[in-house]
Amino acid sequence: MMQNFPLRVGGILDHAARYHPNRPIIGRSIEGPIVNSTWAAVHREAKQVAAALKSLGIKKGDVIGVMAWNTVRHLSVWYGIPGAGAVNHTLNPRLFADQLVYIINHAEDRFIMVDLDLLPIFEAIIDKLPNIEKIIVLTDSAHMPETKLDVICYGDLIEGQPDNEPWVSGDENEPCGICYTSGTTGDPKGVVYTHRSNVLHALAAAAPDMVNMSSNDCVMPVVPLFHANGWSIAYNAPMAGASMVLPGRDMSAPGLYEMLEMGVTFTAAVPTIWLGLLQHLEAGKLSLSTLKRVLIGGASCPRAVVETFQKVYGVQVLHAWGMTEMSPLGTICSFKPEVNALPDDERLTVQETVGHPPYTVDMKIVNDMGEDLPWDGVTQGRLLTKGAAVVQRYLKAKEDAVNKDGWFDTGDVAIIDANGYVRITDRSKDVIKSGGEWISSIEMENCAVAHPDVAEAAAVAVPHPKWDERPVLAIVPVEGTSPNTDEIMSLLEKRFAKWQLPDDIFMVDDLPHTATGKISKLELRQRLKDQGYTLPK
Ligand code: AMP
Repeated sequence: MMQNFPLRVGGILDHAARYHPNRPIIGRSIEGPIVNSTWAAVHREAKQVAAALKSLGIKKGDVIGVMAWNTVRHLSVWYGIPGAGAVNHTLNPRLFADQLVYIINHAEDRFIMVDLDLLPIFEAIIDKLPNIEKIIVLTDSAHMPETKLDVICYGDLIEGQPDNEPWVSGDENEPCGICYTSGTTGDPKGVVYTHRSNVLHALAAAAPDMVNMSSNDCVMPVVPLFHANGWSIAYNAPMAGASMVLPGRDMSAPGLYEMLEMGVTFTAAVPTIWLGLLQHLEAGKLSLSTLKRVLIGGASCPRAVVETFQKVYGVQVLHAWGMTEMSPLGTICSFKPEVNALPDDERLTVQETVGHPPYTVDMKIVNDMGEDLPWDGVTQGRLLTKGAAVVQRYLKAKEDAVNKDGWFDTGDVAIIDANGYVRITDRSKDVIKSGGEWISSIEMENCAVAHPDVAEAAAVAVPHPKWDERPVLAIVPVEGTSPNTDEIMSLLEKRFAKWQLPDDIFMVDDLPHTATGKISKLELRQRLKDQGYTLPK
């Protein structure tokens, strides 16, 4: 018989502090200066956070809302909360006030821990949050802001707290974190991660065919810790004993570049961040001196981004797909031997797919009747998944989020090829169905952004009397340019059959986005409807 080794997240930080204690953890603080820390120091502070929370009456299973940027301090909070037996509810500051109020009340947060600059968000909504007992401002006493709220200073709170008490123990299936889906329709839904699911997810994500993380890496999560479980990076890095760089709240390309040049080897964010960085690099004729791998997901990554990173800057792109409900990793596009053997250009085509899953994730595609579809590289279907870190039931929901056989419908439409590589073609709510056939909006957008004057593109369906729906393409031009629509159409003609081409290509000043930076097609379709948009004859 083997020992019963509980899969609790506190053990991850214990491991880092014991075996990689002096690995540098560097970050930009909200107060301004760069902070230099180590896993040993993060561990000590996390212990103090846990002790402080317990001293304030936090009990096992209590929920604490955290609204904070990626900082060194946030790492200690990230571990201190579950270390006290509580549940870390990540809060996205870009959510609308109504949504924040809804999720904080729905999750029954008892305390809020908030970065200095984000406190005004709570000043505006506190009247609607009857359950909040304490608000802890994540700064020291010298930087405490003027506020009408009754607040506690984090620095004062943890000072003098013991840094060596054991973590609150318990079953590995106890809750550890909550993240709500961005929810373009209806109320946001709460996904509850357990200690076990987070540990298994981190183990799976770190594997060589996934993000391949090691103690030789220096990891910079640009993706905020409040976006989809922080893509697991705050678990992966200490588990691997990697060092970290934390960018704070400055997400500008120059700000990120400065941090990347501190020795970062691995980083992760959504495509728009990298589009901005690549423009900055090109304009300033800059190079990336230490970066080796970049994880890009959350939305489809255009081929041009992959190509530029790899060919111009020598940085390997890992195109990934996942979702809040999957903790979030679903698949990563790393090269199996079959793909490694291909010429460069064909490998780039494979990188338009989101790759294949780790052992802990299973997937399949089905038709509308729920019947399995073949993995032939052409047939599209609804993408279903199950796994060790995939949602079973949303918080307080009356029913499971999975079908009778335990499969969760991701809401994405995909093609799978014979090698098990997945190509995401659409959200099922956003598919364009013309004459009974699906046209991939994602592929159309990626094709359009390959034009140098196109900053962003969105393909949506417009109702059509004969074909049900026809695609149109909205383009946001790169500042100071006016893209030529004939040139864009020629690009599309290389990839799409004639009947799939958009009926109209038009310029817009901006596109509507969700709080996690995805284009909101729902809102765009509504905008067109409100404007009385009609297809050209
Ligand atoms: P979220 O839970 O906010 O992270 O959103 C998850 C959704 O983002 C997925 O269901 C997909 O629709 C979309 N998504 C994530 N990664 C990709 C990708 N690489 N390509 C296309 N869509 C993606």
